Amino acid sequence: MQTLIFATNNQHKVQEIQSLVGPDFNIIPLKDAGIDIDIPEPHDTLQENAAEKANTIFNLTSKNCFSEDTGLEIEALNGAPGVNSARYAGEDRDFQANIDKVLLNLEGVANRNAQFRTVICLLWEDGLKGIQTYYFEGICKGKIAIKMHGEKGFGYDPIFIPDGANKSFAEMTMDEKNKFSHRQKAVTKLFEFLRAQR
Ligand code: IMP
Repeated sequence: MQTLIFATNNQHKVQEIQSLVGPDFNIIPLKDAGIDIDIPEPHDTLQENAAEKANTIFNLTSKNCFSEDTGLEIEALNGAPGVNSARYAGEDRDFQANIDKVLLNLEGVANRNAQFRTVICLLWEDGLKGIQTYYFEGICKGKIAIKMHGEKGFGYDPIFIPDGANKSFAEMTMDEKNKFSHRQKAVTKLFEFLRAQR
């Protein structure tokens, strides 16, 4: 079994990813690795933030690890909130305040096109080559609803309706969300890669 540390404090993300991983991988969230830090996300791109998180954890543990950074990119807002998705309405990362700001900024706007984009950064000890850095991306296209629907999930889930669905992420079970989700697509690529290494 391969063990990997997942550089996140977000329990929703841990649950989503654990539900996708087969028994061959042991995914350890930061809490279970005994690490209690809030990793900075200071950069202008998802890729750089993901790398910052993975490098921070690798420097602390010297163990194979991965991180992910996700943004909601709204066409009519020129890609905002994007890399600032967590702090769109302020430093306290309030999901409800972020949703309210999106809905306000889109009031009367007909173009509701948006996508979630996830970038995973993997730091992987590769025999003689040493530590290697790999990136995996997953995109889920959809629309921003006029108002909130559902109570499951987290973040912007109540206002995001993926293409091909007739309900928001927050109205879906985890299995339903995983059929569409950006994170699921990136994670699938990550585990395909890891399986091919054996
Ligand atoms: P992070 O920096 O990757 O943790 O994500 C930034 C923000 O994007 C989070 O605080 C959430 O508000 C939002 N987000 C990330 N993934 C999802 C998702 O799957 N559904 C809804 N919102 C999400």
